[in-house]
Amino acid sequence: MGAGHLKEEEFKISYYCIRFFINFFDKEEVFLARYIGAVCRLCRRENMKLFLKGDRCQSSKCAFEKHGYSPGQHGQRRGKFSDYGVQLREKQKVKRIYGMSEKQFRLFFYKAERQKGITGTNLLCLLERRLDNVVYRAGFAISRIQARQMVAHDCFLVNGRKANIPSFSVKIGDIVEVKETKRKIGIINESMETTARRIVPGWIDFDKQNYKAIIKVLPNREDITTPIQEQLIVELYSK
Ligand code: SF4
Repeated sequence: MGAGHLKEEEFKISYYCIRFFINFFDKEEVFLARYIGAVCRLCRRENMKLFLKGDRCQSSKCAFEKHGYSPGQHGQRRGKFSDYGVQLREKQKVKRIYGMSEKQFRLFFYKAERQKGITGTNLLCLLERRLDNVVYRAGFAISRIQARQMVAHDCFLVNGRKANIPSFSVKIGDIVEVKETKRKIGIINESMETTARRIVPGWIDFDKQNYKAIIKVLPNREDITTPIQEQLIVELYSK
């Protein structure tokens, strides 16, 4: 075996190693700030409907309705959770509802901790004030995932100024509106038609004709109807 042959072998090994790591990180989505895998798996993992897919969640096509057990080979053997497990699942559930990464969720928690009042309630109110959530709650989008994409694609203005950061936190009196140039876009109008039956929470004043949502007051705990035990999240992060 010649020296040239060895070099070729070494080259092949390093090439396959690099490809392996690239594929590995690609699949695990380690470096992405948001989850881009199959979202129905998340509902099945959390053992409840998280309503991540808009209309489909209300239909008979809902994966949780069909397979109401955890995903994976051993998903049907759901064991009992420890106290830590229960707290962890609650945190994961809320994080997934709002489509956030662990790092960003923790930052919201620290912010909630520094505010006056009950940390868990502060956390939920801060999450509700995210711009992508306001877009979803007002009815411009059928799901928070769609709302996030619309915001990132520059479809909205806040107080007449460009706002394309989904985590932007709204304040009392803020006016969230669809850009003039984007009002003809089919997806926004279709979503508004679809969500017309949905009840807009009391803290948002929705003006469908003018594509506007005004923040009347800040949301409080009663406005969040999703079953969440925020105290478990506080206990988890306080360890
Ligand atoms: Fe969850 Fe909606 Fe998928 Fe049903 S359709 S499993 S509620 S994301």
